[in-house]
Amino acid sequence: MKNKNTLDNRTALNKYHFPVPKNSIQRIDRNTSPAHIGMLRNAIDFIVPENTPVLAATDGIITFVKDDSTIGGPSPAYWNFSNFISIMHKNEETSRYDHLKFNSSNVKEGQKVKQGQKIAEVGMTGYTYIPHLHFQISIFNGPNIWTDFDTLIVEDFIDS
Ligand SMILES: [Zn+2]
Repeated sequence: MKNKNTLDNRTALNKYHFPVPKNSIQRIDRNTSPAHIGMLRNAIDFIVPENTPVLAATDGIITFVKDDSTIGGPSPAYWNFSNFISIMHKNEETSRYDHLKFNSSNVKEGQKVKQGQKIAEVGMTGYTYIPHLHFQISIFNGPNIWTDFDTLIVEDFIDS
């Protein structure tokens, strides 16, 4: 859903691979999550079983890792309890992977990763109704990395 009057929708410059094994994907959901509004409007949910490997969508450098949360569920009260990883790629695009399983990350901030490399597993941390990977590509547009960003459109994923 595009809101042309208030928000500019740019398509990502980089090409991204599926961030989970393609054969694990039950459904790809772009629009029904109540969290996919405003800056998050271009986020994508990959409905997959818990413990599914999460894969770097393209080469990059790990910029943030949180995997110490053990809680989550179908309430915005869990918003700040999502385990997640961010990776910086070329063209100043960042990928983010949310709802990761507690203690499942095997990467560290500053580490280089290759496309397809396993970085964590899918869990149920944060605000989530069913096991899935929340995925978004962002660019920053101000000094505050938590608020000054926008998500980019990823039309399709490289299948490999
Ligand atoms: Zn989502």
